[in-house]
Amino acid sequence: MKVVALAGGVGGAKLAHGLALAMPSENLTIVVNTGDDFEHFGLKISPDLDTVCYTLAGLANPETGWGRVDESWNAMDSVSQLGGANWFNLGDRDLGTHLERTRRLNLGHSLSQITTDFCEAWGIAAKVLPMSDDTVPTIVITDEGELPFQEYFVARRCEPQVSAFRFEGVEQAAPVPGILEAIEATDVVIFCPSNPWVSIDPILALPGLRKAMADKPVVAVSPIIGGQAVKGPAAKMYTELGIEPSALAVAQHYQNELSGFVFDSVDERYYSEIESTDIQPLVTNTLMKSVEDRQHLAEEVLRFCEELLIPSGVGSG
Ligand code: GDP
Repeated sequence: MKVVALAGGVGGAKLAHGLALAMPSENLTIVVNTGDDFEHFGLKISPDLDTVCYTLAGLANPETGWGRVDESWNAMDSVSQLGGANWFNLGDRDLGTHLERTRRLNLGHSLSQITTDFCEAWGIAAKVLPMSDDTVPTIVITDEGELPFQEYFVARRCEPQVSAFRFEGVEQAAPVPGILEAIEATDVVIFCPSNPWVSIDPILALPGLRKAMADKPVVAVSPIIGGQAVKGPAAKMYTELGIEPSALAVAQHYQNELSGFVFDSVDERYYSEIESTDIQPLVTNTLMKSVEDRQHLAEEVLRFCEELLIPSGVGSG
């Protein structure tokens, strides 16, 4: 079975890692949000892409879920000592990634080509594609005005009240070469348990994406468990947008795309309501605390996808 997985950073990376462990890598394409990308100290930083790649390569910091393991912070300490811009933490090893990426982008290489080369160097077998080689910054519209994503997320610690999101320039942006082809060739598309508003929606907003997925089974895994996000502002965003955060709200968010929806056992009460909207539900443990949890959830999701692919009636007796 061929799989295209859409992912943001922390939650997306965990399931993407599980999928990479649970299936042949030549059948797995991971499309990663680049709406969070920004420039800092003149360096091009792609937080979600790096989180996914570090996680797949076994280089991620297991405590934070972002950044690198065995990291040191000498460069940032120097910046702080100088009274400089220390609001975004960049570890020394991580800085090497941004330096080399920026050098190559300045030579005119595309982000997708650079990512492919980095993945090869890091020993990542699955195909990892940034969603676009074009810049499509996510703008968060808040009660304090419009904020670029990292300013909202890191500098302002998600404190401003959110009223909407904008993916600047998305109408003119193109998906990276190979994404539409991968979707065309895939058996199933999986939305990882990423923030629907700022990790998955920016990918879906790219021209041609939704159309390419229209006749493919799509399965999402809920990032909301028991009405709360495991990490990050997803639940807070739902509340501020006037929607009660829940697995049900996530299913409704993706309603037009979904064939199947995977959500946590603590939210089992939504089963029949989700089923009544023609979305096949799967209730299981979706909290990934360990690498084994990632692989186990991925295996369950893949089994569920295989069942969805069996035409109704076949295999029933
Ligand atoms: P970000 O760009 O780093 O915020 O990364 P994502 O959008 O991919 O991930 C954030 C989302 O992942 C949050 O909404 C979390 O609730 C969700 N998440 C993180 N860990 C887990 C987990 O173990 N299980 C599930 N179901 N969701 C998770």
